[in-house]
Amino acid sequence: MSRYFENMFSDEGVVDISPELFKSRIFTHIKKILKNFKPDEKNCDGGLYVGCAGVAYALYYLVKCGHFPEQSQSFLESAKSYISAALHHCSRKNTRPRNQVSFLLENGGVYAVAALIYKQTGELQKSEEYLQAYRELASQCEVVDFLEHGSDELFVGRAGYLMGVLLLQRDLQTEILPPKQLQHIFEKTLESGVRLRSRLQFDGNIPLMYSYYGTLYLGSGHGIAGILQVLLSFPSLLHRNPSAQDLIKTSVDFLLDLCLQEGNIATDLEEALTSSGRGKYLVHWCHGAAGVIYMFARAYIMFGRNEKYLNVCKLLADTVWRKGLLKKGPGICHGVAGSGYVFILMFRLTGEAKYLYRAERFASFMFTEQFQGGARTPDCPWSLFEGLSGTICFLNDLLNPETGEFPLLDVFVNELSI
Ligand SMILES: [Zn+2]
Repeated sequence: MSRYFENMFSDEGVVDISPELFKSRIFTHIKKILKNFKPDEKNCDGGLYVGCAGVAYALYYLVKCGHFPEQSQSFLESAKSYISAALHHCSRKNTRPRNQVSFLLENGGVYAVAALIYKQTGELQKSEEYLQAYRELASQCEVVDFLEHGSDELFVGRAGYLMGVLLLQRDLQTEILPPKQLQHIFEKTLESGVRLRSRLQFDGNIPLMYSYYGTLYLGSGHGIAGILQVLLSFPSLLHRNPSAQDLIKTSVDFLLDLCLQEGNIATDLEEALTSSGRGKYLVHWCHGAAGVIYMFARAYIMFGRNEKYLNVCKLLADTVWRKGLLKKGPGICHGVAGSGYVFILMFRLTGEAKYLYRAERFASFMFTEQFQGGARTPDCPWSLFEGLSGTICFLNDLLNPETGEFPLLDVFVNELSI
């Protein structure tokens, strides 16, 4: 059975985004989330990814974007209840310090979002307290293999932690870590990739490789694409270190060749090397075209707007257009909103209305009977990555697509400028 609904839309069309319609869709979803997913201890596992903290972030994001001035106070109050449940959960759980680093699943992301929310509510001392808690996790990930099963990817590893640093810097406009410490974590990530690559027996020209629970993932979720996207987001460290830049660029270009062959990327290296993926590879943010595209977008920004990176983005976006009406649900990790975000990215990169039209078509598809009757309900239907909390971020971003961004992972992020 196909993983996606066939895309019956014409490839191009008039962009029609009614703010009233989109706002009412967002309200309907928020009501459902607040009603069905209470800020309780039992809903806090899974951090930003599927726990209460992710709902808190979605509400914070809506307030920050400013399309709901009349509701911003009540959204913020709700955001506070969700983040405070998540913080309480962290304090009771007794997670090992090195596991607390995790940005998407554990304490790291919860502290980061708490710092953002309390800044927004004007509770500056609390904001500073959680910012400090985030800072203190840094020393844990300064050891190359600080985790047994992969220390570098976005969910639990250094890339996620570094992404949190960028998010906090951007929204709080303050230095999060001393530059030396940041550089150290950046270099440990490279060292880890070089070390693993040297142990692998295959002759592809890719000087970095990472594993997570023994699998050499290629995509955004647990894979090298997510890690490279983050490394590419620190231009000052790259400019200072030409050999690092070389390692990263060669790795990006290896993945680019894989994507050119298939219009997509395999879930892991073994799959890429042993089978033709035409039609088989996943088209998700976590694994596949809808995630790896951000890494190429970042490479395009970083490497002098070299057209080859933009061209591969266009190719991947076309794959998402054809195969991205996913039956797995409305979420951003492996659902229709995640596919839709690809077109917001492409609209921002190219300015072409075609992509905005495509984003709107995907958004509206989630409100059709075909989708509502035919898509599966995800395991965590209210959450940020699998459920409606991510969907509302996407719908919100269609109200102002010029600044729309995949939650927590801004590909256009600049280094700190105060
Ligand atoms: Zn996923």
